[in-house]
Amino acid sequence: MKLSHSFIKTLREVGKEETAKNAKLLIRAGYIHKEMAGAYAYLPLGLKVIENIKQIIREEMNAIGGEEILMTALQQPEPWLKTNRWDSDMDIWFKTELASGGELGLAPTHEEPITNMLKTYISSYKDLPVYVYQFQTKFRNELRAKSGILRGREFLMKDLYSFCTDKATHEAFYHQVEEAYMRIFNRLGIGEDTYETFASGGIFAKYSHEFQTITPVGEDTIYYNKDKTVVLNEEVLNDEVLKDLGVKCDELESTAAAEVGNIFPLVYKYSEPLGLEYNDPSGQRQTVYMGSYGIGVSRVMGVIVEKYADDKGLVWPKEVAPFKVHLIGIGSAGEKAALDFYQQHSDEILLDDRDLRPGEKFNDADLLGVPIRVVISDKTLAEKSAEITERATGKQKLLTIDQLESIL
Ligand code: ATP
Ligand code: MG
Repeated sequence: MKLSHSFIKTLREVGKEETAKNAKLLIRAGYIHKEMAGAYAYLPLGLKVIENIKQIIREEMNAIGGEEILMTALQQPEPWLKTNRWDSDMDIWFKTELASGGELGLAPTHEEPITNMLKTYISSYKDLPVYVYQFQTKFRNELRAKSGILRGREFLMKDLYSFCTDKATHEAFYHQVEEAYMRIFNRLGIGEDTYETFASGGIFAKYSHEFQTITPVGEDTIYYNKDKTVVLNEEVLNDEVLKDLGVKCDELESTAAAEVGNIFPLVYKYSEPLGLEYNDPSGQRQTVYMGSYGIGVSRVMGVIVEKYADDKGLVWPKEVAPFKVHLIGIGSAGEKAALDFYQQHSDEILLDDRDLRPGEKFNDADLLGVPIRVVISDKTLAEKSAEITERATGKQKLLTIDQLESIL
């Protein structure tokens, strides 16, 4: 991508009403645009980061047998009425009236419609298990939207739903998701701060599990023992749970954390009221055993920003960065060599070919946070080389133009 061809601009300042570090930096760097509190548009670089995060999640979900689909955001009340989540148990709906009459809602999550949909496809034990997932925009009329992209009224989620014949099959898959989630968070660069955390399980299961990333901007409080082998959400901190997990209250410490994902044994919570059943081998009707598995795609992006950004701007881990290299040519020979190199690897390079002073380009390179900055100038060319700077550490070295190929 050539910066001279893009409409995006870095900004010196951000409106005062934006208080979250993640959103402030992403807006200044031209990654996102704030529509209103809790709703952000993704611009070319921001969209690339989102797509990279999605691709990592997609690879790991496919690896454990997930099938990708895309459900509708428009929701009719009927399935939600059957589970009591149209009027009473869910207070964050955006609802509207259809022009032709009747109510409609914007999906805050998808348990009901997917359970309902699968009644068309599941009739026998031979049709199970089914593991389906999607990347979907969810809408929630959240009371507070002050954490930038960590809590949106419109946000992107990966949600997977599992449909099994029995508890044992469900538990085996649940365990596979636990492992896949840790692989995902490791690849996303937040693995070392992310802990699988005991959380409340609802009516059918004792526990669900959240994936909590320790960060001062997190809205949750988690408790952990010394070596962090037992981690639990404040909401389940009680004598019974402590005994269950074999820990004592006085050996626990607490910290703020952001929930980047959660996995939930739904059991029959939705399949029962919605009547999702199958015939077992003896022809008996049985209720499908379900689980749900979410990751907050846009929240994860915000958590990555919060973790890595420094006083100069964004810093992206390699696998999520919008580009591998931020390339700057200085002087006429340097500019030409930069353009040549760009043309051979245009997918992986962000070329700053704007008509600006080098100092401004360096500042913007720091703000945009691409992992490696490469400068080719008349001076470096005199040594047949280019200057490489690592964004995260500031470490610099000279590489020959041939060696440059090796970093791509
Ligand atoms: P929270 O407790 O943070 O409100 P939740 O328990 O309601 O989240 P789920 O319904 O399980 O969340 O959604 C799955 C994932 O989607 C969460 O783990 C979180 O990462 C993300 N998420 C939930 N609400 C939001 C939001 N308003 N904005 C951005 N991401 C969200
Ligand atoms: Mg939660």
